Amino acid sequence: MDLLQKIYEAGVVGAGGAGFPTHIKLNCEVEYFIINAVECEPLMHTDKHIIMNKGKEIILAVEEIGKLVGANQCIIAIKEKNTKEIKHLKEIIEALSSKITLFTMGDYYPAGDEQMMVYEITGKPIPEAGIPLDVGAVVSNVGSIVNIYDAMMDKPVVDRFLTVTGDVKNPTMINVPVGISVKACIEAAGGSALAEYAIIIGGPMMGTIIDDHEAENHFIKKMDGSLIVLPKDHFVVERKRKPIDKIINETKTACIQCRYCTDMCHRYLLGHQLRPHKIMRNIGMSDHDEAIMKEALLCCECGICEIYACPMGLSPRLVNVHVKKELYKKGVRPEKGSLDLEVRDMMAYRKIPSYRLISRLDLLEYYGQPIDECKNLTPETVTIHLKQHIGKPATEMVSVGDVVTKGQMIGKVGRDELGANVHASIEGTVIEVTEKITIKSNGVVS
Ligand code: SF4
Ligand code: SF4
Repeated sequence: MDLLQKIYEAGVVGAGGAGFPTHIKLNCEVEYFIINAVECEPLMHTDKHIIMNKGKEIILAVEEIGKLVGANQCIIAIKEKNTKEIKHLKEIIEALSSKITLFTMGDYYPAGDEQMMVYEITGKPIPEAGIPLDVGAVVSNVGSIVNIYDAMMDKPVVDRFLTVTGDVKNPTMINVPVGISVKACIEAAGGSALAEYAIIIGGPMMGTIIDDHEAENHFIKKMDGSLIVLPKDHFVVERKRKPIDKIINETKTACIQCRYCTDMCHRYLLGHQLRPHKIMRNIGMSDHDEAIMKEALLCCECGICEIYACPMGLSPRLVNVHVKKELYKKGVRPEKGSLDLEVRDMMAYRKIPSYRLISRLDLLEYYGQPIDECKNLTPETVTIHLKQHIGKPATEMVSVGDVVTKGQMIGKVGRDELGANVHASIEGTVIEVTEKITIKSNGVVS
């Protein structure tokens, strides 16, 4: 069986948060195959853990994927401060006589952004609304690479490494079956001393947020990499939860048009025509300039403008999210720009040092917390979403009462469809089938 078919069978999707089906992404020919091991969001340790524990698998898989996509260069991008992980990878590369190289990046945000990374490595900016393929590159997260290695061994994606940190008693790494509840993951970190809390799924800049009472019925997906517990009145939580009406009213009264949001926006710095200060000016007017509003479609929602740049505490990111939704409703889509674009001169000087970002986020008390050794969790039930990826949901292949084995396919998409297969992550009996499949363990741990 060819490698793409194995990746398709195994249901591999982008593990860095996006969830793009990997068998579709890697069906290409490129000059550069880039592995994203940068993990630039604060407080996350998952990629570092994967490197230290799956280093050989990563190198072996990258060799095979490099051949698949015809890459002249296979490059692992990693932060230069991660010296232990760099040494580990170099030793494996040497032992396997591999030609894979490492590209070290500074400790700044958003070093892990695909567009930043591709530009730093290739010197080629990706066009507006474009993808790395437009400049001859394809990028995969290091977690996806481990899943591809497993696919090479005919093992589907059934588990995830996660960092559980923030306001928990014992911050820890965990290895969990896909479909475990968020509550079980937080309990594995000793729970929280807080009476009430919010949970960020993903990083504090771009992650989504749920409440403690939702944790029992919220289930880990293939692309989740961390859980951060924070008090409900924490700055990060309040910023993420601000209602759009309030944001727009504040914008109308308080935006001083200083344009710091634009000057610090890394997409603008990469040469894109994205000027959040102009969108902020427009949102306050009854008659919107459509051409300006369409610039919001180029926003990747990195959060620099609202967390770091704006001196007035406004939220250009959330305004962009709102504008994008409205434009999408009207059928307006981003248009691909020219390859011929100029990176702005200030680009090199406007990278945000991670430590300063963590300070702005009011997360210093959680920075540098010791992280416990990885625990393997074996829950009694899992609830597995049929759609945990970009594209169409998988079609269920099991019914209530069916007994399934770990790794058995329980949801399927066609080979050429945008979507990914899903598999049972524990052995047991199917007890519910909706847009999710719930499996109750039969007590066998495999
Ligand atoms: S940084 Fe804030 S105040 Fe300045 S233009 Fe942007 S939104 Fe307005
Ligand atoms: S969130 Fe703000 S800084 Fe980030 S890409 Fe969008 S406009 Fe630019």
